[in-house]
Amino acid sequence: MRYHDSVIELVGNTPLVRLNRVTAGISATVLAKVEYLNPGGSVKDRIALRMVEAAERSGALRPGGTIIEPTSGNTGVGLALVAQQKGYRCVFTCPDKVSSDKIDVLRAYGAQVVVCPTAVAPEHPDSYYQVSERLVRETPGGWKPDQYSNPENPASHYATTGPEIWEQTGGTITHFVAGVGTGGTITGTGRYLKEVSGGAVRIIGADPEGSVYSGGTGRPYLVEGVGEDFWPEAYDRGVADEIVAVADRDSFAMTRRLAREEGLLVGGSCGMAVVAALRVARRLGPEDTVVVLLPDGGRGYLSKIFNDDWMADYGFLSEPSTGARVADVLARKAEAES
Ligand code: PMP
Repeated sequence: MRYHDSVIELVGNTPLVRLNRVTAGISATVLAKVEYLNPGGSVKDRIALRMVEAAERSGALRPGGTIIEPTSGNTGVGLALVAQQKGYRCVFTCPDKVSSDKIDVLRAYGAQVVVCPTAVAPEHPDSYYQVSERLVRETPGGWKPDQYSNPENPASHYATTGPEIWEQTGGTITHFVAGVGTGGTITGTGRYLKEVSGGAVRIIGADPEGSVYSGGTGRPYLVEGVGEDFWPEAYDRGVADEIVAVADRDSFAMTRRLAREEGLLVGGSCGMAVVAALRVARRLGPEDTVVVLLPDGGRGYLSKIFNDDWMADYGFLSEPSTGARVADVLARKAEAES
């Protein structure tokens, strides 16, 4: 008989898949690390498992405890899975820009979800960060993993994602590209790949235009799960050699192409990371191997990125008319044709 004792054992060991069509005109090999194949459907299963097991060991989380976290969904799913299997309760807070599909998923796993306004500052008492803080204070046995400051977040990628990529590429990876949210993925994976390669692997962060990582102030953008309006502790500013800023329009166009042309139905931050990866890969030669991490699947975005009406509402499907936008369209057409 071959079986796993619990769904928890399915976390990690995701495959690499070569991108074949969106890479037209590029000679470098571009490989996608497909994280939606984790049991909870995203890269966040990795950090959830590691944060919970570390808290059990330290005594921060005790039998019968409640896990409370501000999350845009994916970390919640990972935590809900792990918590359910280990017998803990879960309460999540999230901003109201998060798709209802994602919130319904959390509730389906048995978690409680508190939806908070997006359009308030992080320090505002109604922000999803502050609401989670209050819930931790008020809930007996409450424990907050805090993926933004928990060292186990980057540590999980140092221990799993990095070694997997190094082993899967037989040490031939030259560039690693990942979106930056909490910064855990790029920090842990990047640190491992730098160390194991003696500094040879270049680490590239992808960021929505307007977010702090690419020099913005946190101006609202629509891509979910990446970009911040503050600097999280989980992010090591020294690890990325380069940060590539990507506009929502380009992120979403690429997200749709990944489904139609590569058979990869993935989320908006995946499209964003691939846009950045292709910008980098265009400068490279046939001896280079770029690995781009795709954090989650596209099912949670069917009513947004994959919906023509939603895309048209934001002007993402229409031809822009101002000078700057015309330049943008021309540049993208040239990019698509190259
Ligand atoms: N994409 C999505 C969809 C996410 O949920 C996250 C996590 N916030 C990321 C990308 C970024 O990963 P990290 O937090 O490790 O920087």
